[in-house]
Amino acid sequence: MVLTLKVKNPRVPLTELEQSAFCTTEPLDTKPLIEELKAGVRWQQLPDEYVHLDAAQLKARIGEARRKLGKKAVVLGHHYQREDIIQFADFRGDSFKLSQLAAQQPDAETIIFCGVHFMAETARVLSQPHQRVVLPNLQAGCSMSDMAPTGDVEDCWDDLTNVLGKGEVIPVAYMNCTADLKALCGRNGGIICTSSSADKTVRWAYDRAPRVIFFPDQHLGRNTGLKMGIAPDEMVLWNPFKALGGNTPEQLKKAKLILWKGHCSVHTRFTVAQVQKARERYPGVNIMVHPECVNEVVRVADHVGSTEAIVRTIAAAPKGSVWGVGTEINLVSRIAHENPDKTVFCLDPIVCPCATMYRIHPAYLAWVLDELAAGRVVNEITVGEETAKYARIALQRMLDVG
Ligand code: SF4
Repeated sequence: MVLTLKVKNPRVPLTELEQSAFCTTEPLDTKPLIEELKAGVRWQQLPDEYVHLDAAQLKARIGEARRKLGKKAVVLGHHYQREDIIQFADFRGDSFKLSQLAAQQPDAETIIFCGVHFMAETARVLSQPHQRVVLPNLQAGCSMSDMAPTGDVEDCWDDLTNVLGKGEVIPVAYMNCTADLKALCGRNGGIICTSSSADKTVRWAYDRAPRVIFFPDQHLGRNTGLKMGIAPDEMVLWNPFKALGGNTPEQLKKAKLILWKGHCSVHTRFTVAQVQKARERYPGVNIMVHPECVNEVVRVADHVGSTEAIVRTIAAAPKGSVWGVGTEINLVSRIAHENPDKTVFCLDPIVCPCATMYRIHPAYLAWVLDELAAGRVVNEITVGEETAKYARIALQRMLDVG
């Protein structure tokens, strides 16, 4: 057998480079867009009239446009959005919950997704034919999703099929990936998972093949595999910049779990030292982290859960309890605000929002709403029919697993 090995030049996603641009020790108050652009970020250009408006002016403008549009537009806000966006959201939640909710609003012709690009794509795939999806800032990507570009993923799948043979490996992709990657899963007997359904979906995959390749978050994949009893030496990392992902054919044949080398720039900031510090400062503190954190952190945490699980668990916790949380700062601040009878803090002392979620500045929301109210659609997110069809198949498998 002759293998064609494709080697890529390393690229660092733009979103990853910008991650620290808004890390601060100050509160995250929204400034006029012109001020935020001074951090040197490459965000979508807006008409000049929007970039100088302050938070109060933007609030008035967004409120006015929303009144004009009424039920024709629904605004979705991901948990990691800043407060100045969440105040306008009809619904808030994680990406999957929001997409499902949007599809259940038949009166809404336009779904304005205040989140990142892959979420708007998922909403497009799951929404009804008469609906359209708008992403207020087209530069709001996701560094993790950007680490698994379509070409690299297709090359990897071809290589694995060549080395292992058909039916020997099942693709499982985390929701945080492009519609193209979701479609690759749908086309090849694979499935999508969320951070709360990763165990069940990976188990589903092992009922169908001896190996799984998990895209694009190595940490969620590793944490899930270890929890299921897969040994570290049964896992290999697939580095898209190396031939065969940096593995020999023998290593791939021996592996049970192949982990795509991607990560979340936000959740990999959490460390064991931060957990130790929290325990020294607050004896009896409950540590809860997201499963996109590195395994060393997950191992020392008291609880591990998705964003929705973090919100639920702390809301149900006893009065006076103390929570050190390892997830995005806007969500942690909101949980702290909504649970005044508990002490809730972020494990990372530096205030470091998800740089891509942060790109949905209220000026962008004001602009897309004003345009809609004037009968113009800007920043519509589309997904090709064929891609949507297979992405839906992979998402449906996830729903069927429950
Ligand atoms: S928190 Fe991480 S995974 Fe989520 S959108 Fe931001 S970079 Fe992507």
